[in-house]
Amino acid sequence: AIAAEIRSAGGTIETSRAVTGIAERGREQVLATTRGDLVVRDAVACAGLWADRVAAMSGDRGTETIVPFRGDYYRLTPDARHLVRGLIYPVPDPRFPFLGVHFTRRIDGEVWAGPNAVLAFARAGYRRRDIDLRDLAAVLGSRGFLRLAARYWRTGAAEFWRDWSKKAFLRALRRYVPELGAEQITFGPSGVRAQALDRDGRLVDDFRLGGSGHVLHVRNAPSPAATASLAIGREIAERAIERFDLA
Ligand SMILES: Cc1cc2nc3c(=O)[nH]c(=O)nc-3n(C[C@H](O)[C@H](O)[C@H](O)COP(=O)(O)OP(=O)(O)OC[C@H]3O[C@@H](n4cnc5c(N)ncnc54)[C@H](O)[C@@H]3O)c2cc1C
Repeated sequence: AIAAEIRSAGGTIETSRAVTGIAERGREQVLATTRGDLVVRDAVACAGLWADRVAAMSGDRGTETIVPFRGDYYRLTPDARHLVRGLIYPVPDPRFPFLGVHFTRRIDGEVWAGPNAVLAFARAGYRRRDIDLRDLAAVLGSRGFLRLAARYWRTGAAEFWRDWSKKAFLRALRRYVPELGAEQITFGPSGVRAQALDRDGRLVDDFRLGGSGHVLHVRNAPSPAATASLAIGREIAERAIERFDLA
């Protein structure tokens, strides 16, 4: 529906066209892409897991590194779905931006349990075995990560253990639904969160914008960036109007 609205307002939508460089040319921005250059007056970049790298293309190096955290879900088998009639959430731990595993009843009737939050070895690392050496080196070589690891290595180790052990994952779920049986959960889908990490080892738990004159970068967009996407989109549009002097 949003795509149709954009098109009917005269906009175009380009997919499968990665931006590989951003250069200022007079009053224009030249976006180098995998399918040729795009010349625009102003640009807003919301690049998620690649936000820091896309920002660096226009010279905005910022203070954060994006660290990918994979989140896996288990699905409840149909006979266990009655155990979860609504959403079951933990009380958040303010030290971490991730909520911890919880239960979500979906509109199609399925119930998902998760996600965990385990360091992914690739920004597009949706499976445990996915490794990208450049991504991994960027994380392990960052001062912020070393500080984070020194502070929370126990939490990180527990997440890795829970990632590999269904029993450990189930134990975490049973804190909320004690009746849940091991045969009532099956491995489900995974996602990767883009989490900005500051040099002092702090996980940035708020939105962060950057850029200059005619480029606006969304450098960190944590949850609830999906749930509240329309409101956040409106806020970013207002900032863009102001920054690009479009009013
Ligand atoms: C497992 C999991 C559970 C979550 N649960 C919730 C939740 O319950 N509620 C909630 O609100 N949020 C949740 N989130 C977080 C939410 O998904 C993100 O905050 C949100 O998607 C961020 O939106 P975004 O548009 O900034 O980035 P994204 O949705 O990541 O979009 C970025 C886009 O930029 C594109 N891109 C990147 N680099 C380039 C490039 N060089 N050229 C062109 N395109 C590029 C990518 O392909 C991608 O399409 C969850 C995330 C995960 C992984």
